[in-house]
Amino acid sequence: MSAPNKSYDPVEVEALKPEEIDRAKSEALDAVAAADSLEALREVKAAHAGDRSPLALANREIGALPPHAKAEAGKRVGQARGAVNKALAARQEQLEHERDERVLVEEAVDVTLPYDRVTPGARHPLTTLSERIEDIFVAMGYEVAEGPEAETEWFNFDALNLGPDHPARSMQDTFFVEAGKQAAGEDSGVVLRTHTSPVQIRSMLDREPPLYVICPGRVFRSDELDATHTPVFNQVELLAVDEGLTMADLKGTLDHMVAELFGEGVHTRLRPNYFPFTEPSAEMDMVCYKCRGASVGDPDNPCRTCSSEGWIELGGCGMVNPRVLTACGVDPQKYSGFAFGFGIERMLMFRHNVEDMRDMVEGDVRFTRPFGMEI
Ligand SMILES: [Zn+2]
Repeated sequence: MSAPNKSYDPVEVEALKPEEIDRAKSEALDAVAAADSLEALREVKAAHAGDRSPLALANREIGALPPHAKAEAGKRVGQARGAVNKALAARQEQLEHERDERVLVEEAVDVTLPYDRVTPGARHPLTTLSERIEDIFVAMGYEVAEGPEAETEWFNFDALNLGPDHPARSMQDTFFVEAGKQAAGEDSGVVLRTHTSPVQIRSMLDREPPLYVICPGRVFRSDELDATHTPVFNQVELLAVDEGLTMADLKGTLDHMVAELFGEGVHTRLRPNYFPFTEPSAEMDMVCYKCRGASVGDPDNPCRTCSSEGWIELGGCGMVNPRVLTACGVDPQKYSGFAFGFGIERMLMFRHNVEDMRDMVEGDVRFTRPFGMEI
């Protein structure tokens, strides 16, 4: 390494001449002042304060100067670079401020504009209809009861007087659940509930009569999904157990429910039927809420809602079978009860002219949106 050249005069180094430094500095300051955008300023910064800028190159020359010349040249270059950096920072701040002001104006949101271009969400009509039915019964003093969707066979079948040979227990209708280790062909004893009736059994076991409960919930049957069937659907069942209840109480309760749901004057009729868990049992129809029966025998005024039948089949009902009461520890000599159940999907179909059950389960908002925010 050679010793510094004593005769080396910094004044002779072109890049370190005071006028060169001043020129580089004033060029840089002019460019900073002329930069009219943050992008332009970035270029100015690279050109006048970057590694290859005249002042940076001059700074590098200082190292080669003899010690006595270093201080003066260093001070001159340092002051020039400091002035340029200060100007850059000030201009940067100014341009950022201008940009922010501009963005505030350009991207301002007019909160007074109509907001209806944002589509409001809608609750599923099955939920709102289920809640509306619950409200009708809660107003009459019923309480809402819930239970598990995976049930033991005893709750789902046996307690409801559905013996081991009952066709409803066959593999065709029921989802059987594998639970833990079991031999091939052996039942776990657990099923996905095929109706909400197990909740009625649980209610009777949990509470002492008098008992008034409504049980809404999902139920499962091994059906294919098509226009009129779905393997998962919603039921509402009601159960009343008290002293001296009769079919007249059941009929009055049903008449009140359909009048609340479909309008004053809509009433029901009962047709004899058979269910294992009720005795006597009946199929319940309500008078068509659209034509009120006027379409029957009048081909000029057909009714789509009831197919001009005048009546709409709604569900099954009856007096609770004394064997069911006994299974639940209720004395059938002292108490009697009535029960009623129907599918909410089916009620939604004729209440709102929904023609395909698949629309209810596919989750397309175009289906739920017309129902709006009905509560
Ligand atoms: Zn009708």
